[in-house]
Amino acid sequence: MQRTTRLAPSPTGALHLGNARTFLINWALARQNNWQIVLRIEDLDSPRVKPWAKQQAVDDLQWLQMDWDTNAGLQLDDLTPYKQAMSMLREKHLIYPCRCTRKEVVEAQSAPHIDDHELCYPGTCRPVDFSTICEDQPDAAWRVVTQDQPISYTDAFAGEQSHNVSQQVGNFVIATKAGLPAYQLAVVVDDARQGVTDIVRGDDLLRSASRQLWLYQCLELTPLPTYWHLPLVLGPDGRRLAKRHGDTRLSYYREMGTSAEKIIGLIATWSGVHSTRVPMSAMEFKERFDITKLSHDPVTFTDEDDQWLTNN
Ligand code: GLU
Repeated sequence: MQRTTRLAPSPTGALHLGNARTFLINWALARQNNWQIVLRIEDLDSPRVKPWAKQQAVDDLQWLQMDWDTNAGLQLDDLTPYKQAMSMLREKHLIYPCRCTRKEVVEAQSAPHIDDHELCYPGTCRPVDFSTICEDQPDAAWRVVTQDQPISYTDAFAGEQSHNVSQQVGNFVIATKAGLPAYQLAVVVDDARQGVTDIVRGDDLLRSASRQLWLYQCLELTPLPTYWHLPLVLGPDGRRLAKRHGDTRLSYYREMGTSAEKIIGLIATWSGVHSTRVPMSAMEFKERFDITKLSHDPVTFTDEDDQWLTNN
């Protein structure tokens, strides 16, 4: 069977060094193993999408010497596949409209949630009878029914996983109040129709994988993909790399005259490829990269790393 992966940047901002590491490892794994690579720009998160960021993501990936075999284009260009998935879920009585606000969900929670970003939906709008739900629901999000049992799978990098979606987030949103497919649904529909077998991404999305596997099951999609969740790059303070750590955008370094080889060389020291920082091409990175030598610990971007990149 032909294996296929995807590079799926979200144009909600500029790609930074942490994104670059994940993409480069994804690309190297694909090219080492003859997987096809699909480029997919995930532009559904409308309020957060920046028009300039779509082309910039492509430019950044190309600047870092990555390539791909097919370009899946933009998600917003054709919403039909997501609508078809919604219809199927509706017919199976697996989804229902919800007009709760975030505040209402917070107030309805019986216990404080461990993760402050993700709320566990208590099922407020879940109907007793799904057969009377009409399709047209202005200003409503749609939630999918979940099961109170663990979903287990083996992550090719992170190992055995078992997550109970009902207990983590409850019936989660698959279409937004704006009438667009939510990330969890869009990613499953796209990965399935684009033949993606191997999903390589940051482990900030590890908890999403079980939600996505649940949707594969609801939509009767096979085969299930193999996940490779990789540790993230952190700032010197141990928090996920972000604006607070200064400018780590690829476009910033590019404009400053830092070579792509330097960025790749730094990523090589972060990926068990080289012990010291030396400029390196993507091709050389691919030749030397060994996933079995990749640390399971997060990487820290240090001030010395930054100085090395900016001293031309
Ligand atoms: N577009 C998502 C991101 O940039 C990636 C989604 C995924 O890999 O499933 O975070």
